[in-house]
Amino acid sequence: MPATLIDGKAVAARMTAEIADEAAAFQHATGIVPHLVAVLVGDDPASAVYVRNKQKACERAGLKSTLHRLPAETTEVDLLRTVERLNADSGVHGILVQLPLPKHIREQVILDAVVAQKDVDCFHPHNVGLLVQGRPRFLPCTPAGCQRLLAEYKIETAGAHAVVLGRSEIVGKPMAMLLIQRGAVADATVTMCHSRTRELASMVRQADILIAAIGKPRFVTADMVKPGAVVIDVGINREGDRLVGDVDFEPVSQIASAITPVPGGVGPMTIATLLRNTLTAAQLSAG
Ligand code: NDP
Repeated sequence: MPATLIDGKAVAARMTAEIADEAAAFQHATGIVPHLVAVLVGDDPASAVYVRNKQKACERAGLKSTLHRLPAETTEVDLLRTVERLNADSGVHGILVQLPLPKHIREQVILDAVVAQKDVDCFHPHNVGLLVQGRPRFLPCTPAGCQRLLAEYKIETAGAHAVVLGRSEIVGKPMAMLLIQRGAVADATVTMCHSRTRELASMVRQADILIAAIGKPRFVTADMVKPGAVVIDVGINREGDRLVGDVDFEPVSQIASAITPVPGGVGPMTIATLLRNTLTAAQLSAG
């Protein structure tokens, strides 16, 4: 039987509507409109599209968004100055530095410079530490989006074997960290796999819940998936003029119990979580 399609677009739209209601109530009470500033360096077309989508989502939720567009030749020092100016601006609640940055700029230096209270991507060591300890200030956008999808589709995670394919700071590590916590939509037994994992296919085949985040088109084939598994595909890969995930969608959807499409699965949830974090940042700044 074909898998249930996990409709991230629909869930993200519901989340955005919830955030819009909360943001309106917050504005009514405090006069503050949560404000996200995106910093985009250079002219990578994919990054420009991502930033535009984030800005449009802010509009839908009634949040203010501003774009700082800087030329590709911007120096690390100049970018640091921009970040520091935004850190000091009390009218800015969330700062997002769109990645990747041009090669001559060290991403870690820039990301570390964003003050933790405005780090709506949840990259700052302080925010990552809070997440690891199970008391997050902000949610890691993509992993928390995946977790919300599991919640919305009432996927049992407690005691389930979740395999996270990929160990990046942005997706794989925080994903594992969310699922291993005590509590709702967590309590999973988590295995993390990466490019050095031995017997990768047999590891992945043990997953009750598989989160694929490696950036390799259609890498996860049907023979790597346990019948009835829930498959969350984070990957976004360009194949000609279409986007495909890290999972070979058609055959895998014949044996999984539920699966996210690409596009329309995890992507919109990442943006919805960013909006949630921006509202949280504004609420925290208002005490
Ligand atoms: P990274 O390139 O930072 O990390 C990829 C991870 O996959 C690494 O840990 C790497 O292992 C592992 N990996 C790569 N090749 C293999 C392989 N053959 N076998 C096993 N493991 C492998 O990617 P990201 O985490 O940033 O992104 C992953 C994918 O998710 C990309 O397609 C990206 O576009 C997409 N993405 C989607 C988002 C969304 O909102 N939907 C948001 C963010 C990312 P090692 O560490 O050993 O090198």
